Amino acid sequence: MIILNNITKTYGTLTVLKHLSLTLEKGKRYCLMSPSGSGKTTLLRILMRLEKPDFGSISTASGIPFEELVISPVFQEDRLFEAFSPVENVSISAGRFRKSAQIKEELERLLPKECLTRPVSTLSGGMKRRVAILRALLTPSDILLMDEPFTGLDEEIKQRVIEYIKEKQEGRLLVLTTHQDEDIALLEGTLIRLSF
Ligand code: ADP
Ligand code: MG
Repeated sequence: MIILNNITKTYGTLTVLKHLSLTLEKGKRYCLMSPSGSGKTTLLRILMRLEKPDFGSISTASGIPFEELVISPVFQEDRLFEAFSPVENVSISAGRFRKSAQIKEELERLLPKECLTRPVSTLSGGMKRRVAILRALLTPSDILLMDEPFTGLDEEIKQRVIEYIKEKQEGRLLVLTTHQDEDIALLEGTLIRLSF
């Protein structure tokens, strides 16, 4: 269990997060839904430890320092190695834990076979998104953080991706951002709204 206590984050004169307190339970799926600019990415980046809050703290119920938990991120931007293939991109992160044949097999569940060995730069936006999602899910971790993972995915593919996420979450805490109400139902997720 992760406990966010009174998190405040400002950029100059802009207060993005104000006294935010939340408890996030292991194994659950949380959907952050609020208008653009309301601080969803900022909150995920704080959880990813890429930003520091001005005030407040993050702790765990188990007593393990939050900083020691392993995070699997899907960034709002894909952050893939564009010259490398999907198989290579996932292997860089998950290759210590899974054989290349297994990584290929998993990628084939969400992507056409013919694109698995092409440079990522030749893939569509939605395909890149799926590679980033697979990279996170196939790497062992404590927490999955996904910033707009479903951008560029059509309805049918999105539903397949959501089923895959549920299968591969494996008891981890998942926090993701989305703009669509229906995603919460599909994910059987818990809604979190950030208020200004
Ligand atoms: P969301 O993901 O909900 O769209 P963000 O967390 O990206 O929102 O941004 C929240 C607000 O913080 C926006 O007004 C954005 O312009 C501002 N912001 C985000 N990052 C920075 C930064 N590094 N410097 C200044 N302002 C920022
Ligand atoms: Mg954002």
